[in-house]
Amino acid sequence: MKRDLYEVGTMPPLGHVPERMYASVIRPDRFGPPTQAFRTEVVDVPQVPRGQVLVLVMAAGINFNNVWAALGRPVDVIAMRGKQSGGEGFHIGGSDGSGIVWAVGESVNSVAVGDHVIMSACHWDESAEDIRLGADPMTSSTQRVWGYEDNFGSFAQFTLVAEYQCIPKPPSLSWEESAAFLLTAATAYRQLTGWPPNTVQPADPVLIWGGAGGLGSMAIQLAGLLGGIPVAVVSSEEKAEYCRKLGALTIDRTEFDHWGRPPEASDTERFDAWLAGVRAFGRRYWEVLGSRRAPRVVLEHPGQDTLPTSLYLCDSAGMVVICGATSGFQADVDLRFLWMRQKRLQGSHFANVRQCRAVVHLAAAGRLDPCLSMVETFDRIGDVHQLLYENRQPPGNMAVLVGAPEPGLTAA
Ligand code: NAP
Repeated sequence: MKRDLYEVGTMPPLGHVPERMYASVIRPDRFGPPTQAFRTEVVDVPQVPRGQVLVLVMAAGINFNNVWAALGRPVDVIAMRGKQSGGEGFHIGGSDGSGIVWAVGESVNSVAVGDHVIMSACHWDESAEDIRLGADPMTSSTQRVWGYEDNFGSFAQFTLVAEYQCIPKPPSLSWEESAAFLLTAATAYRQLTGWPPNTVQPADPVLIWGGAGGLGSMAIQLAGLLGGIPVAVVSSEEKAEYCRKLGALTIDRTEFDHWGRPPEASDTERFDAWLAGVRAFGRRYWEVLGSRRAPRVVLEHPGQDTLPTSLYLCDSAGMVVICGATSGFQADVDLRFLWMRQKRLQGSHFANVRQCRAVVHLAAAGRLDPCLSMVETFDRIGDVHQLLYENRQPPGNMAVLVGAPEPGLTAA
């Protein structure tokens, strides 16, 4: 019998769109730590606009961006959407997910109801002038992150995506494996391959911060596949062991204490002490690498705490490529090192469709492990984000089950 609302873990008949759904919702009056901000509510299933697809979510991946959404800073995404288009007054996050196409909007022709898909995290207006003039869509002024900047992400029974966000799900991967890795893997792939001439080449040392994290665990494997030598930074022996199994050399950052914004260079005593810390870290890096070669590419995302060290260590004409700022977004650049050594500081944000398909291909071929470390139930979305917020998450990527009744299923 067709109903208006179905319990999480159950499915309506294929193609039947109920009027309402369960969603893990953030509202402005709950902004704060994730356990406070997320709450399961019943909301209306959104209409499917032209060019878009309604997907029944089987599993959703967890990422740091919805920690920011929960906190309401540095951007209040609900207020931002309110200013732009009125908005809904609430946020349904989730920028990674796998599921089944349940309804398609007008003009959609590359996917059909019943297709099993992985959803990629960004969309844009394909008719935008910058894209028509040849820009990478990720650099378009119309580009937005699904389930962060935009509403109706994967933390609900149904989600809305553009048709090109749907990538065929590899039949060999479970719903939760498929949901867990695309955002971090594709972001790392773009960082390591997307900025010529600073792409990872065989024998290039690559310094990877947060090696046991979502991005880091993908970056270690991708750097290795490209022939590079991944050197991962971690904060515990357990995480170091995890990175070594993925093929990285490791450094424990807790043995050093020079992190954060450097003192003013005019305060020579304190600045010199800070520089001594950076150099000690550099010597450890040489020691674990076994040679005095600087990293050709530094994969950055902690930001404020680590960027000065990254820029100092990076090779001449090498690149520090940054996609986040977990520890703070006001990071100092010592311009002397930047210009005298002709280093590159490159911003990088998620990935275009070709880059997404590349990492899904590697996972489907069994060459990239999604590194799924934790699978939780739908009602624990806030708790899992709380782990990320407190840096207490297990190594790798995490996911929650939504439509999938149990872990390990590869089909409906
Ligand atoms: P994650 O799984 O939480 O891993 C982050 C890792 O960073 C942690 O495992 C931790 O490792 C390390 N870390 C935390 N604080 C640090 C600090 N102060 N100094 C040095 N290392 C620190 O998160 P993730 O999924 O890898 O994402 C990392 C960041 O990248 C987040 O800010 C996220 O928003 C951003 N990101 C951006 C994009 C994009 O498209 N722009 C895509 C993905 C992620 P240790 O404690 O072991 O060192």
